[in-house]
Amino acid sequence: MKSLWNNKIAQQYVSQYKKKNIEKDLALRIYTTHLLGKNPKLVLHGGGNSSVKSVGKNLYKKNVNLIYVKGSGWDMSNLNELGMPGLELKPLLETIKLNELNDNDMVNLLRSNLINSNAPNPSVETLLHAYLPFKFVDHTHSNAFLSILNQPNSQALIKKIFGNKLGIVPYIMPGFSLAKKCLEVFKKDEKVQGLALINHGIFTFGDTAKQSYERMINFVSDVENYISKNKIKLKIHTNKSKISMSDFILSVRKSF
Ligand code: ZN
Repeated sequence: MKSLWNNKIAQQYVSQYKKKNIEKDLALRIYTTHLLGKNPKLVLHGGGNSSVKSVGKNLYKKNVNLIYVKGSGWDMSNLNELGMPGLELKPLLETIKLNELNDNDMVNLLRSNLINSNAPNPSVETLLHAYLPFKFVDHTHSNAFLSILNQPNSQALIKKIFGNKLGIVPYIMPGFSLAKKCLEVFKKDEKVQGLALINHGIFTFGDTAKQSYERMINFVSDVENYISKNKIKLKIHTNKSKISMSDFILSVRKSF
């Protein structure tokens, strides 16, 4: 799998969105979200999401930290700024000190911190994006990764392929508990460039849109090479896998 990043096209996104008064961070976030979303080996049926942290002005012209996360019902391959709802970051980070947060309270928290009340619900994985201290965070349910992450010895395989480059997170249904677990794993070794979530998918992060996107592409390529060398059967991501089922249940229950 090759990086499709192109400086010229990236610049076109920036100038096109500037006309709509949309800042560079979000324009580049939309660009690499499209790159990921258009690759069916990475993203199928609305799975996967992405985010960018930025700064905006509140009603009193004071700077506030924001996070833009993919919204429910939007497709990564063709979303625009309306599909990347913005939220105030600080109240989301305050939840780190909680031990529990149920789905209803989480949805209320997310909705009440939207900067535009008409925005769609942000992804069920919003807190996870918020907690990771990087400007850009990318997440896919890559087929190749799932082939490894669904193996009984997935942990050992990830370690073998990536060494210390990826943190390994046990399976937890998306939501607050998964976000907390991911933060805990990240804090154990802050040098990791991504997180492999057992039975679920992969997160990468970086300081720039290009860095986070290319880490995703490189890690997926490493897994693809390992699979072809070791003749592991590629597991196609279907509704039978744990993650799509849990996403599905949540989507029905919470209209995410
Ligand atoms: Zn996911």
